[in-house]
Amino acid sequence: MHEMSLALEIKAICERELAKLPESRLTALGVEVGAFSGVEVETLQFCLEVVMSEGFDGFRCEVVRQPGTAACLSCGLEFQVTQAPFECPRCGALARGVSGGDSLHVSYIEVECE
Ligand SMILES: [Zn+2]
Repeated sequence: MHEMSLALEIKAICERELAKLPESRLTALGVEVGAFSGVEVETLQFCLEVVMSEGFDGFRCEVVRQPGTAACLSCGLEFQVTQAPFECPRCGALARGVSGGDSLHVSYIEVECE
């Protein structure tokens, strides 16, 4: 389960950012998970809750899936996808990912200064 190590890395990013601002508190965290990253949104959300519960609390955690583009291997149609497996909306054949959404990144960190 590599979601756990990703969650730890995200926590490290939060700690680094908060260290720059004394007397600050994390209020919200946004993470974008690419459609081709192989990361389960639900699993990552769960891991983040577990990892972050030590040191941070009372913040909003939003993990969203970022769409990518896939191309149908049968009819060639290109379409937006958010979750594997990618099925062609026109003919139902399997498609392969072609662009976008193969990464994971922290989209925003919101802090409140006392
Ligand atoms: Zn197709």
